[in-house]
Amino acid sequence: MQHNYSLQPYNTFGIDAKAKYFSRFSSVEELELNLKHYANEPLLVLGGGSNVLFTQNFDGLVLLNCITGIEVSDDDDEFIYIKVGAGENWHQFVMHCLANNWAGLENLSLIPGSVGASPMQNIGAYGVEIKDVFHSLNAFCIANGEIHTFDNHKCQFGYRESIFKRALKNQYVILDVTFRLSKKANLRTSYGAIQQELFSKGITTPSIQDISAAVIAIRQSKLPDPKALGNAGSFFKNPVVSKQRFEALQQQYPDIAHFLISDTEVKLAAGWLIEKAGLKGFRMGPCGVHDKQALVLVNHGSSTGQQILDLSTHIIEKIKVQFGVSLEREVNIIPPHENII
Ligand SMILES: Cc1cc2nc3c(=O)[nH]c(=O)nc-3n(C[C@H](O)[C@H](O)[C@H](O)COP(=O)(O)OP(=O)(O)OC[C@H]3O[C@@H](n4cnc5c(N)ncnc54)[C@H](O)[C@@H]3O)c2cc1C
Repeated sequence: MQHNYSLQPYNTFGIDAKAKYFSRFSSVEELELNLKHYANEPLLVLGGGSNVLFTQNFDGLVLLNCITGIEVSDDDDEFIYIKVGAGENWHQFVMHCLANNWAGLENLSLIPGSVGASPMQNIGAYGVEIKDVFHSLNAFCIANGEIHTFDNHKCQFGYRESIFKRALKNQYVILDVTFRLSKKANLRTSYGAIQQELFSKGITTPSIQDISAAVIAIRQSKLPDPKALGNAGSFFKNPVVSKQRFEALQQQYPDIAHFLISDTEVKLAAGWLIEKAGLKGFRMGPCGVHDKQALVLVNHGSSTGQQILDLSTHIIEKIKVQFGVSLEREVNIIPPHENII
């Protein structure tokens, strides 16, 4: 147990916030012990810290999830079921699956963070979300110490959403996740620049390993490496608007980036809106908008979390004024702020 402990190495924004208490757990028993000793302290469970923004010191207990282990829990003709400890590194787990020819996660290569956080916001990239390959998870109920199992339906997955970000926020610690992976690949190459990347390498009949390599190459060319430039990936969600609202915007901005999600709703690209508002590469003190990908906010070195939060508020206000569209933050603000837009 550490006291007044710097969280700088534990969040990809590189914010130098301190935890009043900090510890690790590698089993349910260790988790229970920590919670027993610090029962009255506010709790934050941390994985890779790649989806959090600390705006001040954390006045409570921060627990780093270090539960490891990858095992085959079941299999049938079509699928293999893999149970993974929540503290396993996501990308290393994806690489493990690829090495075994288990298909389904290749499009989700190189996403930072832990396996345990992946269901929190139903991580997604290049046309795949974990809900597509998720079977179930076991989670520790903080209120009564029971372990509950959640299947796909119970998790209430949505776009960068799950029940753990809404109705059950801060009530459970995810211990392990079971994925249902395919023995026969069902390749998804239509999203983003995957096909272009495969074509440039002369690959016409790609394997899951080829798709993963293409995704990694595209991500490395577009996204800043948090080790070099602090960031938490996409800071905002892509906003969903009514078809009517979209058509009005399209009149004004014929090249507006969009994706039809139903007969009545259209998803807009938050990055496109921010870039169109002239904010790509914009700097506000020691933080700013990334100059290659406007959806990513970056810490140029000495930014506080509050400064990054203020920058995000500035962006939300500008987008609202220019397009009448409300952006929502994807990153978890710690502690949660009640009165921010
Ligand atoms: C460069 C970069 C690129 C990214 N690209 C993508 C992308 O393509 N798609 C995408 O969806 N995301 C992306 N992200 C965001 C991030 O990687 C994911 O959200 C990831 O799942 C976060 O994992 P983590 O372990 O770092 O979570 P943390 O940041 O540690 O935690 C996130 C939230 O989950 C909670 N939490 C963590 N673990 C547990 C647990 N075991 N039990 C209960 N609660 C828990 C935390 O309290 C916190 O509220 C990106 C981030 C970066 C830095």
